[in-house]
Amino acid sequence: MTKVLAVSDQVVERIYTLAANEHFQDVDLILGCGDLPYTYLEYLVSVLGVPLYYVPGNHDPRYDAEHSLSYAEGGSNLDMKTALVNGLFLAGLGGSIRYRPDGVNQYTQGQASFRSYRLLLQIMINQVRFGRKLDVLISHSPPFEIHDDDSHAHQGLKALNFLIRTAQPRYLFHGHTHFFRHNLEECVTQVGRTIIMNIFPYKVIEIDEGVES
Ligand SMILES: [Zn+2]
Repeated sequence: MTKVLAVSDQVVERIYTLAANEHFQDVDLILGCGDLPYTYLEYLVSVLGVPLYYVPGNHDPRYDAEHSLSYAEGGSNLDMKTALVNGLFLAGLGGSIRYRPDGVNQYTQGQASFRSYRLLLQIMINQVRFGRKLDVLISHSPPFEIHDDDSHAHQGLKALNFLIRTAQPRYLFHGHTHFFRHNLEECVTQVGRTIIMNIFPYKVIEIDEGVES
């Protein structure tokens, strides 16, 4: 069983107290779904001392290995990548729909789809290598017409619907769209074998290693 602390979109002041009070002591893995200051992610890594994998959101800087402000120290940027961590097969697709011509980490539906084809190829190769199907896909954006919104900036990416159909992850964790009523039913949707969860602002999820593949 892997206990995951997933965070997204909003700094929760209370999390500092909870982390310092060892509330998250048995957390094995931190997943970041974007639009969070990297200092916040770095704080969680240093206090909890567990691996961090994250994707950038549309409010995050463009990744640049030369600039330490453009990534979270001690964490791994999972955008367009896969990883095997704690027996879980992870993949990440960062960014949101393009709504500003000069926006960073923003993609048209076509661009995002192209990225998802490239990611799917890696997922398929590693599915063979790891001998298991994808456990968790993390993204910033929600899928199209699932937990998304009519406003253009919050339209979901069809690339994620494609990955749900093809890679069939057990979980998709996303951010970007906020639900202030904190009603669990509004934040969790199942499509096929995939449980889609809006992480905003944080969730603790226990994932068993499952039977594969
Ligand atoms: Zn966002």
